[in-house]
Amino acid sequence: MVKLVCIECPVGCEMTAEKKDGSIKVSGNRCPRGEKYAIQEMTNPRRMLTTTVFVEGGIYPLLPVRSDREIPKGMVRECVKELSKIKVKAPVKMGDVIAKNVCKTGVDIIASRSMVRK
Ligand code: SF4
Repeated sequence: MVKLVCIECPVGCEMTAEKKDGSIKVSGNRCPRGEKYAIQEMTNPRRMLTTTVFVEGGIYPLLPVRSDREIPKGMVRECVKELSKIKVKAPVKMGDVIAKNVCKTGVDIIASRSMVRK
């Protein structure tokens, strides 16, 4: 049995999930989103990735970036390592794609803010 806290809304239901007879039984959730979250956590946990990349010629040395959707939790470290090698040039617009298909996850990394030139 695994204890989980649902992060789908601020209520934060405390749930338990148990693999039984080839399926996953979830309890403690107040709505179906909790069950969906628990099953995903048990089978294929995913996370949004937020980090920074180096920027050349910008008003700041680092640009905040994020994934355009969740990536497999087990790939987060590898993706952050890959992104640490990237250097973009200012100017950058919020939403610009910084890295396509990062680490072959099918997920793009986009700028979280704009960065003007120095
Ligand atoms: S189970 Fe539903 S009510 Fe409970 S935290 Fe998740 S989304 Fe919110």
